[in-house]
Amino acid sequence: MQKTIISVKDLKKNYGSFEAVKGISFDVYEGEIFGLLGPNGAGKSTTLEIIETLREKTSGQVMVDGLDLDKAPDSIKKIIGVQLQTSGFYPGLNLVELINLFAGLYNEKVDPMALLKLVNLEDKAKNKFKEMSGGQKQRFSIATTLINKPRVIFLDEPTTGLDPQARRNLWDLVKKIRSEGTTVIITTHYMDEAEQLCDRIAIMDEGKVIALASPDKMIDDLVATGFERPKQVKSANLEDVFIHLTGKEMRDE
Ligand code: ADP
Ligand code: MG
Repeated sequence: MQKTIISVKDLKKNYGSFEAVKGISFDVYEGEIFGLLGPNGAGKSTTLEIIETLREKTSGQVMVDGLDLDKAPDSIKKIIGVQLQTSGFYPGLNLVELINLFAGLYNEKVDPMALLKLVNLEDKAKNKFKEMSGGQKQRFSIATTLINKPRVIFLDEPTTGLDPQARRNLWDLVKKIRSEGTTVIITTHYMDEAEQLCDRIAIMDEGKVIALASPDKMIDDLVATGFERPKQVKSANLEDVFIHLTGKEMRDE
């Protein structure tokens, strides 16, 4: 039996008269990578920000690790890790200084080098934030979500705009974080990423959850309806060609 760590029931969010989230319900299990998928404007970020206590909901119930969002938002803040937009970091501080700054805000003791090692940035410890590539900035911002040793981390489109190597590297990092016992909620609109990474996904569209299952189950269900791809797919795609030619190793180091 899986333990539920996040439970969302009939969550609604209106912006004025616009219903951005229209009564969605889902559970996230402890230790899984849970994906929220959907086109732009589906309501993914709104949903995450409500669970993260950063946005008011209109109605519904949210529980995080047994804590009710309405009664104990401050306790919830302590057990979650939220990724800042990369624009949220002081560009002129180096990575160790930034980690120490966040640790101070959280009132936590951390070993900056151990954290940087986890995200493969130990060589960049003395680099300023602004001197890093897009992939490195994303890995660093994921490192900062771990400072308060959270039970759950929230990653909102962490791989948007990254090159194929940097995306793969980030997938490995997310899997590593999960393997150390942290639950991960991630949004993406890359389907290959969701298929690779997520144990279960909820597909959102126009403020509703329209499907919720493992990627495998969703594909099997579609195939069971008689669906077939219009043409035979080759046994490789252009991304395979690109990775084959340019290698898997990171270029932004
Ligand atoms: P997603 O992350 O899936 O792209 P969002 O949660 O950001 O979707 O947005 C859902 C819908 O709510 C969109 O139509 C967006 O324009 C609208 N929206 C988001 N934030 C606000 C806001 N602060 N005020 C008004 N409308 C908003
Ligand atoms: Mg969004």
